[in-house]
Amino acid sequence: MEGNINTNVVIIGAGLTGLVAAHYLLKSGFSVKIVERNNRPGGVIQTIKEQGFTIEAGPNTGVVSHPEIVELFEDLKDDCTIDIANPEAKKRLIWKGEAWHALPSGLLPAVKTPLFSLGDKFRILGEPFRKRGTNPDESIADLVVRRMGRSYLNYAVDPFISGIYAGDPTTLVTRFALPKLYTLEQTYGSFVGGMIKKGSEPKEERSKKATREVFSAKGGLQYLIDALVKSIGNENILLNCKDVVVSKNDKIFSTTFLMGSIPVGLTSEKVISTAGGSEIDALFPFIGQEQSKAIKQLEYAKVVQVALGYQQWKGISINAFGGLVPSIEKRKILGVLFPSSFFENRAPEGGALLSVFLGGIKHSEFYSLKDEEIISLVEDEIGEMLKIKGIKADVLKIFRYQYAIPQYTKTSEQRLEAVGFVQKNYPGLILAGNIRDGIGMGDRIKQGRAIAEEIINK
Ligand SMILES: Cc1cc2nc3c(=O)[nH]c(=O)nc-3n(C[C@H](O)[C@H](O)[C@H](O)COP(=O)(O)OP(=O)(O)OC[C@H]3O[C@@H](n4cnc5c(N)ncnc54)[C@H](O)[C@@H]3O)c2cc1C
Repeated sequence: MEGNINTNVVIIGAGLTGLVAAHYLLKSGFSVKIVERNNRPGGVIQTIKEQGFTIEAGPNTGVVSHPEIVELFEDLKDDCTIDIANPEAKKRLIWKGEAWHALPSGLLPAVKTPLFSLGDKFRILGEPFRKRGTNPDESIADLVVRRMGRSYLNYAVDPFISGIYAGDPTTLVTRFALPKLYTLEQTYGSFVGGMIKKGSEPKEERSKKATREVFSAKGGLQYLIDALVKSIGNENILLNCKDVVVSKNDKIFSTTFLMGSIPVGLTSEKVISTAGGSEIDALFPFIGQEQSKAIKQLEYAKVVQVALGYQQWKGISINAFGGLVPSIEKRKILGVLFPSSFFENRAPEGGALLSVFLGGIKHSEFYSLKDEEIISLVEDEIGEMLKIKGIKADVLKIFRYQYAIPQYTKTSEQRLEAVGFVQKNYPGLILAGNIRDGIGMGDRIKQGRAIAEEIINK
């Protein structure tokens, strides 16, 4: 490809957000070109098959949090199928002392669990009667301690935040990081009362599709990516694009880059960026310094993911979703998922696949460890915690992410204002991706479709 090509929409980034937006735009008759730096589409999503194991390099699972997820799979049904996690393996384990304990679901287990203090178990009875918070920038930690007590922060919310954000509940601001929880308190005055009231409110037919179940694609998330790529067409996804820069001339954007040593230019009336916050000023040099600074200050947690495949599992029973490790326990891993327990065909019969996470915002130093150091650390921790000491994994893979998970902290207000300002001042430019609207795959699918519809319905 060479020279100058005109298209309706240029999308920067062939991750899930960019692919979903392109899929819906093309379906409505728009011409689209995706410009991707990498040599493959999918962004952080990649599935690897080896020795009978189906290994996810990036996300392992998502939550069916929006109807758009189910609708996307319906749309792609000829090429991929949604895989819903086995509900029998839904137990979440939390490490306390020297053992795993199931996170209680239901009243009796909640009374009996050793995870929470006796004082907090009584205190929770008063949760519906506590006052609403008044600080819009209250951290998740402050909110939880105020309404539920410190042991709930330490042994439920802190590990949950490690599992989702690889983050720190004392710096994540509830209204940005967990907006549904924030709204629950602000609308109903209580988590417990709010959940009961919300549960009894009639639901629209479409919103019933958001089942909150855990999903993947059958055979691995790569099948979702491949199905999107097939729908979009390889000719519309430009890979290995280096030094991408966008400029604006009247109503037209020019996107220039190198494919190998060949300079390419695209002109369009719309540009959608799905790149992370750190890319913004290089991509859009015409944006004001104040705005790019506000967007760039978004911090990302560095995460190392280690996949371990065992042909024969000899450790403790892992019939659960996974185990999370509270920071207060001072272990070296954030947690471990058991994908072969909740999805079929992820490991050979009798074997097991584990996915171990380390690093995160509190331990970014792990990101720079050498492979041998990571392997020895993970083998020690997993050996002890899952009682599989001395048994080597048959397959071991390390995946490092410098910009794994964005942290929606106090700086979010400024960042979102800057995004709004830029979009208003440069009509046709859409700054999307994980700089706004949530961090999970479900959020990305919802955003990708919403952006496409915004353009289609204009
Ligand atoms: C280790 C890990 C675990 C996760 N676990 C979960 C989970 O359990 N559940 C869940 O729901 N979500 C999880 N996520 C989050 C989820 O994977 C993401 O929300 C989603 O895949 C992001 O898609 P995206 O398209 O927005 O971004 P990306 O996948 O990052 O794609 C952006 C694309 O843009 C390209 N790009 C960036 N800058 C440029 C540029 N200047 N020029 C050209 N191309 C550029 C990149 O190469 C990339 O391909 C996890 C993420 C990671 C990293």
